[in-house]
Amino acid sequence: MEISTIPSGNPVSDERLTEILGNPGFGKHFTDHMLRIEWTPDEGWHDARIEPYGPLSLDPATAVLHYAQETFEGMKAYRHEDGSIWSFRPEENAARMVRSNHRLALPALEVPDFVQAVDELVKVDQRWVPDQAGEKSLYIRPFMFASEAFLGVRPAQHVTFMVIASPAGAYFRGGVKPVDLWLTEEYTRAGRGGMGAAKTGGNYASSLIAQQEASGHGCDQVVFLDGQEGKYIEELGGMNMYFVYDDGRIVTPESDTILEGITRGSIIELAGKLGHQVEERKITIDEWRDGVTSGRIVEIFACGTAAVVTPVGALKWAGGEVPAAHEAGDVTMMIRSALVDVQFGRAEDTFGWMHRIV
Ligand SMILES: *Cc1c(COP(=O)(O)O)cnc(C)c1O
Repeated sequence: MEISTIPSGNPVSDERLTEILGNPGFGKHFTDHMLRIEWTPDEGWHDARIEPYGPLSLDPATAVLHYAQETFEGMKAYRHEDGSIWSFRPEENAARMVRSNHRLALPALEVPDFVQAVDELVKVDQRWVPDQAGEKSLYIRPFMFASEAFLGVRPAQHVTFMVIASPAGAYFRGGVKPVDLWLTEEYTRAGRGGMGAAKTGGNYASSLIAQQEASGHGCDQVVFLDGQEGKYIEELGGMNMYFVYDDGRIVTPESDTILEGITRGSIIELAGKLGHQVEERKITIDEWRDGVTSGRIVEIFACGTAAVVTPVGALKWAGGEVPAAHEAGDVTMMIRSALVDVQFGRAEDTFGWMHRIV
């Protein structure tokens, strides 16, 4: 794929960049450039370009604003000790976006084109990839949306794919701390045949009210149960879940309506290599409550690209609560460091997960 570049005439100064990278936060500052590719049925993907970062001008009738035909991805670029820059399993993000796009009736962007698009933007904006101190990285957000100006209800005939990037600081400032979870019994995030397995903004829109409910009860995140029976654990609004048992087994929920995280999938392989038996199966909310109470479940954690691995503290619901299985348990922290060490090039990449960009 041919990608043209229009360099920014107004890049952030070195002084300002040092300031930003010193305390990047999350999703607040954006690199000097963005990447964009257009699609129409006649031309297919065309006009791939990197251009100065800036606002988009959209017709008020742009389809995505009305019918939410949109998908996105989340990934990171990591700077290794020697200055080189790497991404983690980018083909997995690319392949997942193809699956999400299929569900949202958006065109597929081929895996190599997706990977190339991300690589080229990171290369152009490589000075924005922070040093690895404090687990800093460059968060990358590829996304695709219905850009046709048309109010009829059908798949858009003009689609835009974009990549933007934003430096990210450590998710946990002051050390890894367990998060308390709220069990919502009113809201679900997905139903049978719905969009639960697609990475699309609509799933996030529908999770916000439950997230508000969680905050209102002093919790950090919300746990969703299956839509059909309200019995099986699905996932959090943007993270998958893991349960560690007293015999060393590790269990993660299996469901057609969860978003299968790349972190989740990587942990299945990694934990296996570390000697744990890993099971993907249905888990009921009662198994969680009873397991923690009886001591059979000894650790619980959530996982996703942004936070990598987060220990889970208490589970609360209307009228009850079970305490933390364990404060940041040993298995949780061992899996977390094993993964982070591969990402930052401090451990051997035995699975061939890392992809060199610079
Ligand atoms: C992105 C996402 C995850 C985590 O996926 P990773 O590939 O591990 O970052 C989990 N759940 C939902 C709903 C998501 O959108």
